[in-house]
Amino acid sequence: MTDGTFASIFVSHGAPTIAVQDSSVTAFLKGLGDSLGRPQAVLCVSAHWETKAPAVLGVIEPETIHDFSGFPEPLYRLRYPAPGAPDLARRVVDLLADRDIPCAVTGGRGLDHGAWIPLMLMYPDADVPVTQLSVQPGRGPAAHLELGRALAPLRDNGVLVLASGGAVHNLSCFRPGSTEVSDWARRFDDWLAAAVEAGDGEALVDYRSASADGEMAHPRDEHYLPLLVALGAGGERAKGRILHQGFMDGDLSMAAFAFD
Ligand code: ZN
Repeated sequence: MTDGTFASIFVSHGAPTIAVQDSSVTAFLKGLGDSLGRPQAVLCVSAHWETKAPAVLGVIEPETIHDFSGFPEPLYRLRYPAPGAPDLARRVVDLLADRDIPCAVTGGRGLDHGAWIPLMLMYPDADVPVTQLSVQPGRGPAAHLELGRALAPLRDNGVLVLASGGAVHNLSCFRPGSTEVSDWARRFDDWLAAAVEAGDGEALVDYRSASADGEMAHPRDEHYLPLLVALGAGGERAKGRILHQGFMDGDLSMAAFAFD
């Protein structure tokens, strides 16, 4: 276990099937846990927990939520029994309060698949405490960059800020097993990688107007917003590094970035 400084990380979690696949993205995520080392705790910001106002999970033993349908039965038997991190949840509330962002501690919820599937690949022993922070699509992209900036001090205290969404995520273009990628998806993926590497927060917040393909890549913001939290948590002048690139099931980008 390390109490050093972690970069904040954004991963694309793709389809739930990555939990039981051998692919380039599963190899990447398995290696990512090793390369980062074992944090004191993980704060996961997943696209699959949407609230109006910020909320953080305060439970001691979070359940594994199977919040997907129509996938192979073995996926519904998987469990990720990591302990919760209620102390970290309180710290999140305090850090957000410092920036006048109210945040509620919530019980009665577990880890959704945007959180537990990447974590199962990264830290398969499920021995790192985990809590989750919601996304709030109604508050828009800029608010998520601010949210991340408020959380930046966590990185110096052995906490891994793991944002989990999708770099290109348009489910009307979900084609299971297809290796053909649409031109617009590749263009947006390239635009995103360049903006991330440049640390261009303004363009990344305004991605719908700053890029030609933002509307197509993200019919809704929810899978994009975790990226802005990761960017913010990287610090005021954070730049991104590309950790992984690739597509699955047609136009689902599996891009992953580190920010510091
Ligand atoms: Zn998702």
